[in-house]
Amino acid sequence: MNSGQMLYKKAQNIYSSLVAWRRYLHQHPELSFEEKNTASFVESELRKIDGIKVLAGKEETGIETGVAGILKKGEGPVVALRADMDALPIQEENESIYKSQNFGVMHACGHDAHTAILLGAAHVLADTDSPFSGTIKFLFQPAEEGSDDTGRTGAPYFIQKGLLDDVSMAFALHMDPENEPGSIKLHQGPSMANVDTFKGIIYGTGGHGAYPHLGTDPVWMLSFVLQAIQGVAARRTSPLSPAVISVGEIKTGSSTNVIPEKVTLQGTMRSYDKNTRKHLDKELHQAFSLVESMGGSLELDIEHGEPALSNDQKAVEIYKSVIQETFPTFHILNEPYGLGGEDFGYIAEKVPSAMLFLGAGFSKKENRGLHMPCFDIQEEILPVGVSLLAGSAIYYLNETHE
Ligand SMILES: [Zn+2]
Ligand SMILES: [Zn+2]
Repeated sequence: MNSGQMLYKKAQNIYSSLVAWRRYLHQHPELSFEEKNTASFVESELRKIDGIKVLAGKEETGIETGVAGILKKGEGPVVALRADMDALPIQEENESIYKSQNFGVMHACGHDAHTAILLGAAHVLADTDSPFSGTIKFLFQPAEEGSDDTGRTGAPYFIQKGLLDDVSMAFALHMDPENEPGSIKLHQGPSMANVDTFKGIIYGTGGHGAYPHLGTDPVWMLSFVLQAIQGVAARRTSPLSPAVISVGEIKTGSSTNVIPEKVTLQGTMRSYDKNTRKHLDKELHQAFSLVESMGGSLELDIEHGEPALSNDQKAVEIYKSVIQETFPTFHILNEPYGLGGEDFGYIAEKVPSAMLFLGAGFSKKENRGLHMPCFDIQEEILPVGVSLLAGSAIYYLNETHE
């Protein structure tokens, strides 16, 4: 049995705990920045593990609901393993025995599983016969899904507090409901998107619906702006650079015969690389500025959210070696994970990192995707996740040390 398989065996030995943690968290989901019960649950579980120093709360992690564990065994570099802990404002439709007990809140992105897996990794790595020399940081990060009024998600708080300052490599994983257990998406380079949001206001004068020529109509202008926005990705951006702009909200007027004074619209912009990100900003301004030639005026605010997740070559190689050693029959799907966002991108920007997507879904016919009220995972994947995170940390520390 090789060392990866030994770790997997250890992870299987704590299967009932992994399931119990995951189900407890699933039943008690909490929204971003409100993970108080989740954080104290994680903190108390971590404190039960011999040899782990626990950091918790704003003073020690930079954010009230943050928790981190530090496991040091001898000299050597520091590697971080990260899980996110927050849930989503979704009413669960599943009727499982571990169904969400918090009305309107659900772990529909699998962060309950991520948290349970990281607790499992802490147990397995703290075991005296798991050999490594160096330090492993277990980062239980709140607020991956949502930002606060400063525009920040959870990861930037950990970074500002300095939790990543001594870390030289970081690993994370995410549930992948699109693939069944036995498949893993692992991709080097940009793998998830830059996430930017915009809010635009088109101003006209408004007026009587029967006398449009006496005023300026922002709804008429909107029809051209929408066309121009759709053209940014289709006609103004290289087809080789992924880019999406979607308008998700339009608000204007409230009457059949009154031309409104303004239209507000909001949307999201996604891209993979820095240049395309800048390019989309510029093009969006240009699309909105069309209204000036129609007698209107505009306001446009663009807020830059998490950066694209770019997986480091070395970290991806380590993940790949550990997968192949532990699960030789698994399929590794070398493809980007889409234009979704992931605030692990902040951590990957700071230190060489890799996140993989772990096949955890049911058959393809069942559409139980991320952020859906019927989302669920196959729990057999929990010990697999534990052994991949723990195995990568050990692999990195042992390789760097020799
Ligand atoms: Zn999510
Ligand atoms: Zn997620």
